[in-house]
Amino acid sequence: MGLKNNISGSSFDGVAVTDELGRLEFSNDSFFEIVGLPGEELIGKCFMEVIPEDMRDLLERWRQTGTDMPYETKIMARNGEEKNLYISCVRAEFDGTKKYMIIIKDISEQKKLESNLKESEARYRELFENADDTMYTLDGKGFFLTINNAGRKALGATMNEIIGSHASRWLTPDSMKVANERFMKHISGVSLDETAIYEIVCRNGEHKWAELRTRPIKEGAKIIGIHGIARDITEKKRLEEQLKESEAKYRDLFENADDPMFTLDPEGNFIELNDTGLNLLGCIKNEVIGSNISRWMTPESDVIARKAMKKRINGEQVDPPTILEMVSKNEEHRWVEVKSRILKDGNRIKGLHGIARDITEKRIMEQQLKEYHGKLQKSYEELKEADRLKTEFISNITHELLTPLTSIKGFVELLNDETIGKINDEQKKSLDIVLRNSDRLIQLIKELIDAAYFEQNKFKLKFGMVSINNIISRSLQDMHPQANEKKITIIQDIKSLPDIWADEEKIIQVLSNLLSNAIKFTPQNGIISVTAVDDTNHIKISITDTGIGIPPDKLSRIFDRFYQIDGSTSRKYGGMGIGLSICKSIIEGHYGSIWAESNGNGSTFNVTLPKLIKKKRRVREHNVKS
Ligand code: ADP
Repeated sequence: MGLKNNISGSSFDGVAVTDELGRLEFSNDSFFEIVGLPGEELIGKCFMEVIPEDMRDLLERWRQTGTDMPYETKIMARNGEEKNLYISCVRAEFDGTKKYMIIIKDISEQKKLESNLKESEARYRELFENADDTMYTLDGKGFFLTINNAGRKALGATMNEIIGSHASRWLTPDSMKVANERFMKHISGVSLDETAIYEIVCRNGEHKWAELRTRPIKEGAKIIGIHGIARDITEKKRLEEQLKESEAKYRDLFENADDPMFTLDPEGNFIELNDTGLNLLGCIKNEVIGSNISRWMTPESDVIARKAMKKRINGEQVDPPTILEMVSKNEEHRWVEVKSRILKDGNRIKGLHGIARDITEKRIMEQQLKEYHGKLQKSYEELKEADRLKTEFISNITHELLTPLTSIKGFVELLNDETIGKINDEQKKSLDIVLRNSDRLIQLIKELIDAAYFEQNKFKLKFGMVSINNIISRSLQDMHPQANEKKITIIQDIKSLPDIWADEEKIIQVLSNLLSNAIKFTPQNGIISVTAVDDTNHIKISITDTGIGIPPDKLSRIFDRFYQIDGSTSRKYGGMGIGLSICKSIIEGHYGSIWAESNGNGSTFNVTLPKLIKKKRRVREHNVKS
């Protein structure tokens, strides 16, 4: 039994030997195991009867034809298990007897592996082709062997354009250098876990950024290529760049801001403070960073700051800005106006970012201004009271003066008229002088009474339709004696004017006053011209003299009460400096205007009065103005 010794138990292959008639003479354990037969007890039975049916057919065919051996087949084992077998049969003669030797090999496991491999290869292919990331393989010299759909899309090129092209076609020189270095590392067996960032040059010249992971493809110990996975990080890179740029800008702004800028943690400890802030606190960075902000302000301000911070953290409205009194290292107090906002990391509050403005100077000034304002207000009240008392006094005294003066004038007139008795020429002359001067005195007192009335707003205008031509000629008439005395010529250019709504006596008072001033301030032989025109909406009356003129800076001041350009005026020319202020009140009471012009060769006084306007409308306009 040399054969038996040769094959038994030595192999995992199943081996069975039958005689010429197919009776089983021997089989090893593997054979029974593979075909699922009960074992040694079957020895001697007809082999063909006991083996699985499909295998029987197979062997029968072989016995008859003797062809097609060895080959692969599938059988259903006795226990119902499907098996892939590799069968070979041999006819042999042992010791003069013909035998058949059947060798079977269970290749089910191998078949399963093969099919799994195929499946996994297909899966890999699909994954490779449809992956979101670029996947590729290069040969050992850097030429593309494969590239997936994502890769082709990223490069904007077709399969034909990429396969066979060199990696350098698609990389910037710098990135190619990095790729070569990595390849060298792969070759020298260094494992490259870290990713590389390459700058890709697409088919259309566009540059993109990719993050790559590469690993060598080996055949035995030899590296025959590179497998790579790349992710497009162009957008990420762009955002990173932008972030870097905006961070740099922020840093620049923060460090160089003219205002103190800071960040605090949620407990109020300083995380950052710029140079301006450090200057304010009079410290260096180390002394401030980490310290709590409450260390640098008065307790009152600390309460305010904490309240504001709490509100901000709770998402409540904080009325900006918060004003805090800071205390520097050397105990100097400074006021700042703070605007802040919460810093968040998702929902977590990281701290607070703030910007402060040093308002110390402003605050001091405000304080001073308040004090000045208070003082000014007090002075104003005092002045107002003094003015009121003065006006009241003038009002009283003038009435007191007027009564005896009127009586004096009355008796002088009686004397002058010789009602009481005859007087001689010398006495008459003296009485004339007394009379003229008492007239003048009465006029002055009346002006004073008027001024006090206007001031107390007690005066009333008696409006009516009046002829302005009439008013002008009446005013001029009164002035002729005065003008004649100084040999002053009065030229008139008076147009025919419409009637207006006015207080006749008061307008005469204004014109008389202006004419009287013109005569007063014009030397002997001077000229006074009076013009009156109809000026669309107004009547404009102008009185021009060849007198002493008015300096430009005094042109409006002369309308102030008691104002005289030259203090000695009253001594030289007479008057009290109230005539023009009364004129102004009267003209403004008529909704007109009055102003003076002077070119150095005399002065012009202009008066405009609105043409007929119904009183009602004027009142309304007046209310609107006020
Ligand atoms: P006064 O009684 O002093 O004339 P007014 O109020 O009428 O008071 O005038 C105020 C001042 O304006 C005068 O004192 C004078 O200095 C100046 N003034 C008024 N009219 C003329 C004029 N026609 N020419 C030059 N100065 C004038």
